[in-house]
Amino acid sequence: MNYYYENDMFRLEGVSTEHTISDIDIYIGKSILNNTAAYIKKRDFGNRCLIIADNNTYHAAGKDLDEILQKGNIQSHVCLLRDRENERIEADELAVGQVMMSLEPEPDFLIACGSGVINDITRFVSYITKIPFISIGTAASMDGYTSVTSPMIFDKKKVHRHGSAPKILVLDTEVLKKAPGEMTVAGFGDVFGKFIAKADWLISNITTGEEVDEQALDLITQALDKLVTNVDDISNATNEGLQAIIEGLILAGITIFTTGQTRAVASVEHNQGHIWETRMLEAGLPYALHGTSVGCSTGYYLRMYEYFKHIDISKLNKEKAKDRILNRDKFRSQIVECFGNDFLSTLESTNKCLNLTEQDFENHYNSIINNWNKILNSIEFLPTWDDYKKIYEKFGHTIFAEEIGIPSDLLRHTLPYSTFYRDRYDFVFIMNILGVIEEVVEKTLLDYENAVKKGK
Ligand SMILES: [Zn+2]
Repeated sequence: MNYYYENDMFRLEGVSTEHTISDIDIYIGKSILNNTAAYIKKRDFGNRCLIIADNNTYHAAGKDLDEILQKGNIQSHVCLLRDRENERIEADELAVGQVMMSLEPEPDFLIACGSGVINDITRFVSYITKIPFISIGTAASMDGYTSVTSPMIFDKKKVHRHGSAPKILVLDTEVLKKAPGEMTVAGFGDVFGKFIAKADWLISNITTGEEVDEQALDLITQALDKLVTNVDDISNATNEGLQAIIEGLILAGITIFTTGQTRAVASVEHNQGHIWETRMLEAGLPYALHGTSVGCSTGYYLRMYEYFKHIDISKLNKEKAKDRILNRDKFRSQIVECFGNDFLSTLESTNKCLNLTEQDFENHYNSIINNWNKILNSIEFLPTWDDYKKIYEKFGHTIFAEEIGIPSDLLRHTLPYSTFYRDRYDFVFIMNILGVIEEVVEKTLLDYENAVKKGK
């Protein structure tokens, strides 16, 4: 399935009719913020709106937007989310409360002027109040612009709440350019991680028969191609570079929409990112942007994929591998270091991968061994760890988890066990089944240690 533009609207061959997808209009282009009033008029939402922004996004786009709307005879009020000094604004009780209390006079529609958190807050409020919303993206930092779930913080814990998708999404590359470089690298990381997701999905199709949605896979492949052929433009933050990332993020978001799940866009690299975030939040420590975590996580897993390809299946010790994973108490004492006790207990009550029977083990093990060559052939498209390192070097961004705030000790435990975060088949699960995972993690960590030394 190919995509194209018609009057700045992003369109998909054979899918887009009046809108980009479903009832969402997605506009991407240079200086298109100026057309926002016209985009809105086409949809007949009314003429009173509430713009939700923070200090940064107000200056990046909100102020101009306010004027553009006034000129287009749309009345706008601004809800400026309260600055939290040294802390980031979160999608939590305080921010939601502030938006809810700004709904008088009641607007006809809401405008999220921002990226991750501001969209999460607005999407949630829109869902609760049934007031439609429009999103003006200010950073190419995440793939959730068209999402219908909001990751939020409630009672200091991460929760997922229902949300509405925006009716209109405006992504002006001139605005995206103004975002801090860190956010663009985060967006890159969020898309780049889909190499792992794609490989894991293809493998699962071979070993477990899990169905692969060809259309979604095709969209992800296009997003990845676009990304890797535009690395220079991305690192120079040109309009073309920003457009490549945002298209990648939007294509990823669309696959979530069309398949109703995140299989095409998230696998073990996302699991690890989520676990890091949960554990850091629990410890009251600051944590990196979602895409920064995912990008960092992806580097480690690309290196582990290289070791995966070199596993000598004739030298495995099946009985030892079986005992390792089926000896519940012993195995639990290892993986509890990854999740912490309470978190692990919750996962154990739901996840099949944490309750494997001997028969499950046998089935998994045999299917992997019997299909080994097919597995290897399916993942030839993966970039190398060297490719990855060169790209991040070009961005001037670290590849080390410790440098984005993850304690070494936590990393050592999330790398081998983050697969158990959910029942989603991936190559780390395979290496757990084969009993080689700890060895591969140690080699990978050593490579990173040597990379640090080389860098100094
Ligand atoms: Zn993501």
